[in-house]
Amino acid sequence: MVSALRLHNTLGRRMTDLAPLEPGHVRMYTCGPTVYNVVHIGNLRTFLFEDVLRRHLLAKGFRVTQIMNLTDVDDKTIRGAKEEGLSLPEFTAKYVESFFRDIRRLNLEAAERYPKATEHVADMIALIETLQKRGHTYASDGSVWFRISTFPGYGKLSQIDLTQTRRGERVAEDEYEKEDVKDFALWKRGKPGEPVWPSPFGDGRPGWHIECSAMSMKYLGRHFDIHTGAVDNIFPHHDNEIAQSEAATGEPFVEIWLHAEHLVVDGEKMSKSKGNFFTLDDVLARRDDAAAVRYLFLSVPYRRKLNFTWDALSGAAAAVDRIRSAAARIEEVAASGVEKPGAFGAGERGSGFLGEFFAAMDDDLNTSEALGALFPFLRDVNTAIDEGSLDAAGARTALDAIRSADRVLGVLPSAPEALPAEIEGQIEARNAARGRRDWAEADRIRAALAARGILLEDGPSGTRWKKA
Ligand SMILES: [Zn+2]
Repeated sequence: MVSALRLHNTLGRRMTDLAPLEPGHVRMYTCGPTVYNVVHIGNLRTFLFEDVLRRHLLAKGFRVTQIMNLTDVDDKTIRGAKEEGLSLPEFTAKYVESFFRDIRRLNLEAAERYPKATEHVADMIALIETLQKRGHTYASDGSVWFRISTFPGYGKLSQIDLTQTRRGERVAEDEYEKEDVKDFALWKRGKPGEPVWPSPFGDGRPGWHIECSAMSMKYLGRHFDIHTGAVDNIFPHHDNEIAQSEAATGEPFVEIWLHAEHLVVDGEKMSKSKGNFFTLDDVLARRDDAAAVRYLFLSVPYRRKLNFTWDALSGAAAAVDRIRSAAARIEEVAASGVEKPGAFGAGERGSGFLGEFFAAMDDDLNTSEALGALFPFLRDVNTAIDEGSLDAAGARTALDAIRSADRVLGVLPSAPEALPAEIEGQIEARNAARGRRDWAEADRIRAALAARGILLEDGPSGTRWKKA
């Protein structure tokens, strides 16, 4: 039996066993980037936590549908486009591209879909109309507001004390008229020179919060399993999503809410004025090692603050080197074809290691403890190689265990795609070896290909190969 994955649910602040609403299928929504600038490493820390969650769910055998939105219309994107004299799509396209480039470099697996807000305005309008019909909105000066007093559970995620802000208080940065300071815009009246969409409420654009409610429910249904983001999304963004969605459907919106803590630099909040604000390009310009960045993020569980320092990054790079060189060394033994029955018990030791590794992951994705299980295993295998007690079969078993863990960690170089021409060349070399009765060399070539996932089959019409 597969053990349960326990996750810390921000809703209720308690540990929750994941039990997908549709058995075997986890549906999750992750708040994506607002594409008005290049994301910073703090954003990437959150996206990486979501990738680790996704990979762990897949490793546990779940089917996963992950939706991550791209916010390509809001105050910031409109302001940025105006400043650069570009159309909104021209302006945001640059940052959509840099976002995908960054997540690829950090070896994040692709989500099932990345819906853009501008392509779902009709869905947002329909959701606002539903809220209107159910009496949760009011119009004011061409904008539509959500009246939070109509949703009794408002603030249940953040557990915010609503008495702290008084009714009718003015919000300095917001020039719109609203009845309560916590009421939020579902639809914003268009201003001259801004991109607008026609709607029954007048020309305008959707508020940020409604984007996520509309797109998550469109692709995942009205009630789904997991919603993630960074801690600063909890209030007001996620409380507003809950209010909009549950007020519209009358059903619970999300089972489990997960939030990643902030990343700080040298113990301080990142800020451009302090000069400690980094994008991935900034970091890689100083140390060109994306796997080290990935490892550094993995080394701290997602609910703890991550302190980014250059020393910590060096340490992470050294750890990645240790993993990679151990794996390469084991691969050599696997390819050697040397079989010595009764040698190092790789099977038992490997399954013991994987048991610890996945138990740590099941404990609210405790990546630091999972990594803590990996190094003693690598050390034992290394010792076995030194002592000559690891044979090829044992090495293959050990490699399988390391690769299973790396399915979640994602720090090993992906196995180089063997080119068909190169494989044919190896098959020819092996045939030549067999022709001169050099069985050891023929076996070595077969094992080397097997270690790369290429299986050879000798038949009457010659040798064929296939992927394992
Ligand atoms: Zn969102």
